[in-house]
Amino acid sequence: DTPVPNHFIRQIVIDDLEAGKHAVIQTRFPPEPNGYLHLGHAKSICLNFGLAQEFNGRCNLRFDDTNPAKEEQEYVDAIKEDVEWLGYHWAELRHASDYFELFYRCAVRLIQDGKAFVCDLNAEEVRAYRGTLTEPGKPSPYRDRSVAENLDLFNRMKAGEFDDGSRTLRAKIDMSSGNINLRDPALYRIRKVSHQNTGDAWCIYPMYDYAHALSDAFEGITHSLCTLEFEDHRPLYDWCLDSLPVWNMPELADELARLQLKPGRSRQIEFSRLNLDFLVMSKRKLLALVNDGLVSGWDDARMPTLRGIRRRGYTPEALRNFVRNAGVTKQESVLEYSLLENEVRNDLDARAERRMAVIDPLKLVITNLPADHQETLTLSNHPKDETKGQRQVGFASTVYIEREDFMEVPPKGFHRLVPGGEVRLRSVGIIKCEELIKDAEGQVIELRCSLDLTSRPGGPGADRKIKGTIHWVSAVHAIQAEVRLYDRLFTVADPDDDRDGKTYRDYLNPDSVRVVTAYLEASLQDIAPESRYQFERLGYFVTDRLDHQPGKPVFNRICTLRDSYAK
Ligand code: ATP
Ligand code: MG
Ligand code: MG
Repeated sequence: DTPVPNHFIRQIVIDDLEAGKHAVIQTRFPPEPNGYLHLGHAKSICLNFGLAQEFNGRCNLRFDDTNPAKEEQEYVDAIKEDVEWLGYHWAELRHASDYFELFYRCAVRLIQDGKAFVCDLNAEEVRAYRGTLTEPGKPSPYRDRSVAENLDLFNRMKAGEFDDGSRTLRAKIDMSSGNINLRDPALYRIRKVSHQNTGDAWCIYPMYDYAHALSDAFEGITHSLCTLEFEDHRPLYDWCLDSLPVWNMPELADELARLQLKPGRSRQIEFSRLNLDFLVMSKRKLLALVNDGLVSGWDDARMPTLRGIRRRGYTPEALRNFVRNAGVTKQESVLEYSLLENEVRNDLDARAERRMAVIDPLKLVITNLPADHQETLTLSNHPKDETKGQRQVGFASTVYIEREDFMEVPPKGFHRLVPGGEVRLRSVGIIKCEELIKDAEGQVIELRCSLDLTSRPGGPGADRKIKGTIHWVSAVHAIQAEVRLYDRLFTVADPDDDRDGKTYRDYLNPDSVRVVTAYLEASLQDIAPESRYQFERLGYFVTDRLDHQPGKPVFNRICTLRDSYAK
């Protein structure tokens, strides 16, 4: 990983530690388990866990599971696995639903302090009373209920006496505030739905802003980092913690101790979301792609989910470097996807061993070697790193080359093989194309070439200058593999912007995957899933983590060697 460039949140942490405001920092990553994590989440993960790591602090993984309807265990498990895959370890694994009793006691305290009331308006009426940006709201007719009546009604809400949606508990703040979030926001609603963690124990559920601020305080989060859309919610976050000093409320002590929580006041800091071109990232849209069968699943190698990105072969190191280099600011921006691909290339260029593979084979026979000629060549695994050692590669007089490395009628500047022309066959020597063999349709099916025997490695003509070098695999030695060649999932840079009545679904790239049978050098015979290689000249490839088996290889192309879109 590259060193951390400074950013405004990191500077706040440095200043707070220097000022002695905290002995250690405590952060958290708080996903809602209602979908799989995507590249945007990687920013939040790297930021929260990265700061804790750098400053010897702690970072919790907290499932924000206060909404009973949409959350599933499948997502919980996947999120844990994805965070670990990115290379991070949580100090504590927490569930906001573990705090239901604490949230409840805090609500009782608000009622006792005259800061919350039970409101009988329905959702539509609440909206009508709330006002607009230009118009102040009107107080609810239930706003002045007595403490005793509020306590009674709230407990009956909890006991299940009332229907869903018939009553809410609302904060009593300011119906004329310029910030609509402060116009007596709901703190609790009635939902008679079982919850995946707490079952039917509760039928009142806390609202996001209230639960989030309190969860942070219960866990002693020092820096609560969230995306910019919560900036307008910060006054409510602060109101909750001003009204409920949970670190100093005797009625919470036993429950905090039971949960081994050390509460403290937290501070919310917002940063801009990570957006990438040529992608959609919202969970809702990704879910629709999965449900409508437009991709093979959440872990389709074209998906911007962490599962998809992993399946595609991207490394956690590349992702972390990408996020780090993207920086942390309050400016909204859309980053180029190619920046991420470049991080992958940088990482794999250094780490991936080289191999030869041919994805679109054209037979080439060397006519001046005996037809049954075979030999074993020793090739280095990495041109810039001797420690990666060498391997044996079988060579014989019939090889496959890449069809695009030959042209009968070449355009200007084509430095590969042409009729009568010469090219270096990687690690073998210089060959000359003497003859073409075509099938009945006129398609070239075989090249017959002579090998300049003096040009073989170690020979007197080995250094003879020649423009092009092409790769190959030996026909008798090669193994076959399924290879999936991926392209962008969307054809436009901004598939999220609906225009001309079209939506992101109209911009799906129909050619985003092509599956071919390729010929590989035999050293790739018995390798594990998730092994990454550079196939010379073709790109970086990974054995598919689900479908690959030794003996039945399946490779995904991670990316090409150069940005094929760059102008
Ligand atoms: P989505 O909008 O895709 O459904 P979300 O924000 O609802 O995402 P959460 O599970 O609530 O998803 O997100 C967990 C954390 O990840 C939150 O702190 C959220 O702010 C952060 N996060 C989500 N998307 C991004 C993004 N694109 N860039 C940076 N952080 C993000
Ligand atoms: Mg969210
Ligand atoms: Mg969401």
